[in-house]
Amino acid sequence: MSLLIPSFIDGRPCHGQGERFPTLNPATGQVIGEVHEALAADVEAAIASAQAGFEVWSAMSGAERGRVLSRAAAILRERNDELAALEVADTGKPIQEAAVVDVASGADCLEYFGGAAATLTGAQYPFKTALAYTRREPLGLCVGIGAWNYPIQIACWKSAPALAAGNAMIFKPSELTPMTAVKLAEVYAEAGLPPGVFNVLQGRGATGALLAQHPEVAKVSLTGSVPTGKRVMAAAAGTLKRVTMELGGKSPLIVFDDADLEQAVSAAMMANFYTQGEVCTNGTRVFVQRALLPRFLERLAERTALLRVGDPSDPVTEVGALISAAHHDKVMGYIAQGLEAGARLVVGGTAVTVPGCGGWFVAPTVFADCRDDMSIVQEEIFGPVMSVLAFDAEDEVLARANATRFGLAAGVFTQDIKRGHRMAARLKTGLCWINNYNITPVEMPFGGARESGIGHENSLLALEHYTQVKTVYLELGDVACSYR
Ligand code: NDP
Repeated sequence: MSLLIPSFIDGRPCHGQGERFPTLNPATGQVIGEVHEALAADVEAAIASAQAGFEVWSAMSGAERGRVLSRAAAILRERNDELAALEVADTGKPIQEAAVVDVASGADCLEYFGGAAATLTGAQYPFKTALAYTRREPLGLCVGIGAWNYPIQIACWKSAPALAAGNAMIFKPSELTPMTAVKLAEVYAEAGLPPGVFNVLQGRGATGALLAQHPEVAKVSLTGSVPTGKRVMAAAAGTLKRVTMELGGKSPLIVFDDADLEQAVSAAMMANFYTQGEVCTNGTRVFVQRALLPRFLERLAERTALLRVGDPSDPVTEVGALISAAHHDKVMGYIAQGLEAGARLVVGGTAVTVPGCGGWFVAPTVFADCRDDMSIVQEEIFGPVMSVLAFDAEDEVLARANATRFGLAAGVFTQDIKRGHRMAARLKTGLCWINNYNITPVEMPFGGARESGIGHENSLLALEHYTQVKTVYLELGDVACSYR
């Protein structure tokens, strides 16, 4: 019998009233648990509980709220290994990543916003005989909807700033990765979070849609694809909810010929193969200046061929399993399209059978001689597939890098500091790394431009997205009345 994974409402695990569906281990294809989908009645129960939780939580001081978040961060760190193992089973990512990144970055976030909770202040506006001031108030009931690639990290990135600011949150994890959000709810409860302040509802898109359109919800923060983002934003518009959208991308990584070759190759690999390429900010369009291209491809091919694809729970594995059979087929479909369109396969390009695993593995793949119009260059693949493109001049590569509706991230490798900053200023993205890639400390704002996103996660900016400003005017003189 497989494990029944609960939702979590009002401080207790519970099960949705809808259909029961399985969650699989991507490395083995075996069922590791089942969840009951939350239906409208479950959503109503979660909302009622969150409203009650909000009354208690928002009345506490920032320092009191911060202490709960800090305690939860410490518990997360204590349980790092247990939670990382669950994340590996649920996502197929290598344990060597999950053991140091997924839970730890979630704990960093709780710690950061735990510290920031007591710092929320307004401004004052003195006038001759009056004083105005602002209060930064919580929005109320917020909804978080997560993707499957970094389940616990996403749940922390959304809940920590929301809770620090005094909101309550209902979180819906992806149907493909239901395990760790509910563990986070248990951790919060153990840390002293009042019941209802962080509820988890298991379900599919339909459960997310019920939350996104609910009139009692003040804000929705989604991590997911661009099409889902548009649907959620349309649903949220019904009651003018605030939204934060962390969506997909097809980000450029631009390597000038003065770049440190080994560093640029390292970054290109990290930007395409970490978490099997299932990272939203990945630099999947790698533009390399022509003079450097042969040496770049040579080193890239040598080093990519060394990557160990294997059982995610084996500490030596560097590339794990893709999330599902359907996603595996989609990624393999893009590889076929790349070959058909005339891209040159440099390394990889095949599905991989891992002895004793039976799941959905794809070899890290590099295509060279890519053209801007190829589907592998235009569309988000979300797998370990890198497209390398040649370029000659700065203005040319800028125009090509910006010729997309996405705008999540970009990277520039150059030793020319002026060119680095010039490029960063002209790239139409929410993030730009110079001489590195995919570094996302909690202190730094994270968010996309254009169709890749709205708003920010992390940094003090995230608190602004979870609060509203109220202006208070205090008269110290007389009412200036023009009437008799
Ligand atoms: P999806 O857009 O398919 O799903 C995201 C979440 O939205 C899931 O929980 C999903 O539920 C839910 N959902 C689906 N339909 C609706 C709806 N109509 N209303 C409300 N909620 C809905 O994305 P994936 O999970 O496949 O994740 C991959 C995508 O996420 C990629 O495009 C990737 O780039 C992006 N992403 C962006 C990040 C960022 O920070 N910018 C970070 C990580 C990923 P269910 O899964 O149950 O269908």
